[in-house]
Amino acid sequence: MAEDAGKVHVAKARAARLNRAVGELRGMVAQDELWRDARVGFVGLVAGFVLLVISGQLKTMAGELVAIWVTDGYLLGQMMLLRRRHKPIYLAGAAIGLMLANLMGDETFYVAFSFTAAGLVETCAAALMLPGVKSARALLQPKMFIRFVAGACIVAPVLSGVVAVLLLQGIFTSHPFSSFSNWVISDALGFLIFTPVTLVLLSGEWRTLLDRRNRVKSILLLALTGAVATIIFSHTSYVDLYWMLPPLALLAFHAELSTVLLGTLIFITISVPLTVHGTGPLWLFPFATMQDRILALQLFTVAALSIVLPITVLQTQRTALLSALSEGQRRFRNLAERSEEVVMELSADGVIQYVSPRVNTVLGFRPEMLPGTSMLDLVHKDDHLELQRALLHAGATAQEKSAQYRLHRSDGTYIWVRSFIAAMPSGVPGERPALAFTVRDVDLYVVAEQKHLADEQQLRHMAFVDSLTGLRNRRYLDSKVEELLASHADAISGGSVAVLFADIDYFKNFNDEYGHQAGDECLKVVGRSIAMTLRNRDLVARYGGEEFVVVLENCEQDEAARTAELIRAAVESLQLKHLGSPLGVVTLSIGVAHRDLRQPVDAADLFEHADSALYVAKRTGRNRVGRVQDRVTSSSHFA
Ligand code: GH3
Ligand code: MG
Ligand code: MG
Repeated sequence: MAEDAGKVHVAKARAARLNRAVGELRGMVAQDELWRDARVGFVGLVAGFVLLVISGQLKTMAGELVAIWVTDGYLLGQMMLLRRRHKPIYLAGAAIGLMLANLMGDETFYVAFSFTAAGLVETCAAALMLPGVKSARALLQPKMFIRFVAGACIVAPVLSGVVAVLLLQGIFTSHPFSSFSNWVISDALGFLIFTPVTLVLLSGEWRTLLDRRNRVKSILLLALTGAVATIIFSHTSYVDLYWMLPPLALLAFHAELSTVLLGTLIFITISVPLTVHGTGPLWLFPFATMQDRILALQLFTVAALSIVLPITVLQTQRTALLSALSEGQRRFRNLAERSEEVVMELSADGVIQYVSPRVNTVLGFRPEMLPGTSMLDLVHKDDHLELQRALLHAGATAQEKSAQYRLHRSDGTYIWVRSFIAAMPSGVPGERPALAFTVRDVDLYVVAEQKHLADEQQLRHMAFVDSLTGLRNRRYLDSKVEELLASHADAISGGSVAVLFADIDYFKNFNDEYGHQAGDECLKVVGRSIAMTLRNRDLVARYGGEEFVVVLENCEQDEAARTAELIRAAVESLQLKHLGSPLGVVTLSIGVAHRDLRQPVDAADLFEHADSALYVAKRTGRNRVGRVQDRVTSSSHFA
């Protein structure tokens, strides 16, 4: 009992410790989470503050409004990368940062609040339209890019422009429309450029800028962009602004997204200050204010970006597609080449277009020798039809076909192969499809199977053939007679059947006189003689020892007797010397049994009858034909 109580106590203490540990851990996690929230808020605050200070500097440089509003583009980009929980915290931090910076810039609280509110409305509106985007590449996918342009570059800036103009009426010195357009365009430009730039910087996509394959080209293109912008904006002789487009377009076609955005930034960094300082093509136009001049530059930049960004997006997609395609091709070629089978492509009329290197192992040909050859030229001529049929079938239907045939090897021998053939429609209407074609070496199996079949056939043959005479054996005869009688079992089909039992006379003496081997030879000769006397459809078998049985189907009684007599005479006429027989030569005694098949016939009964007839022939002097019911007629050799 005491021991149990002790155990319970220990368990309770352990549970309490565990609970405490879990509690502490939870607290730590919560604290950690709080810290992270605070950090996000602080980052927002710093971002808002610093960016606004920078923008403020730009603003004073360009007059009242800045050419390109960096702040909201950056805030949007950074916010997009945050977890959902952190977004409002970040925005709150940014709001404080923006307020502080505005207040520091000697604005009244009302103006600072108006600017901050307009900025936050804009950033929130834009963010709401771009859910789930975590990279510049994702942002610039066609569908998302349209949402980005419509949402972040039109709706959000217009919304914030309206808020700003409503709140700040009378505070701007210039015409409200001009302020509004400047505001909207500079914010739109800010989003269009700085949101992707921020994403590129913060998501790590900027690494493609340093990609070794493109590095030299990217640097050259950026240098070209900078040089052209410097040339265009450092003089005021003639209007050559449109020459800015070729380097930007070149960037769009040849560089990664991050490089294109950097190129645009370089253009803005050079064009805006130079224009503000009094040079560049925009000074050739009679703008009323600097603000209008900057508006024109903004419009040009928007137009240029509307050309450059879609090209970059398409180009990026194309590059990805091409690399996926070549990767797929490489993979499939690898698989085809490593496969145990030879893989080929045939034209619709069976000419080899491609063949995998495995052909070298299977057929001995070098793979580059075969394209241009007709497949049928490699096929054994007896198998042409088999393959041709499969090729035609596969080409005409959507079904896969197979064929087994012999193929030529480079050393002149043939091997058995198995092919699978399938059409590969090109998609061009009316064009006959090329064929995918595989070749597998099945020589070992086919040769083994052929041998197996031959063995089996021979065994079957041996089971029914008498090895000495080559005639059918007793087993065969018995089964055939059963079959024959069964086919007439209905006793309607009619017809008749005769069985002849033939036995060599005094054969024991023959063996004794001439030896067993001579006896065997005699059996062969007699067997052949019997077979030659018969019609093709008649059946003869060696029934055992020196006995032969003949079955005559559809044979009348007289004809059966005549046939028996023919056999007897044929053997006698061989004049095979037989000193052990009173007759001097080898002779046969034959018993005949006949049955009308209109009555049911029993095989055993039929054979017994023939045996009795034979006995009659033996008893009445041998070398004759016996019939049970007949009287003996020794003169005509009938017993
Ligand atoms: P009968 O005229 O009464 O038929 O006399 P028989 O000597 O022919 O009759 P029996 O049936 O007593 O003898 C048959 C002999 O046939 C016995 C055996 O030596 C011989 N024999 C049986 N099979 C073979 C064989 O395959 N080869 C040889 N050489 N002789 C065989
Ligand atoms: Mg016998
Ligand atoms: Mg005999």
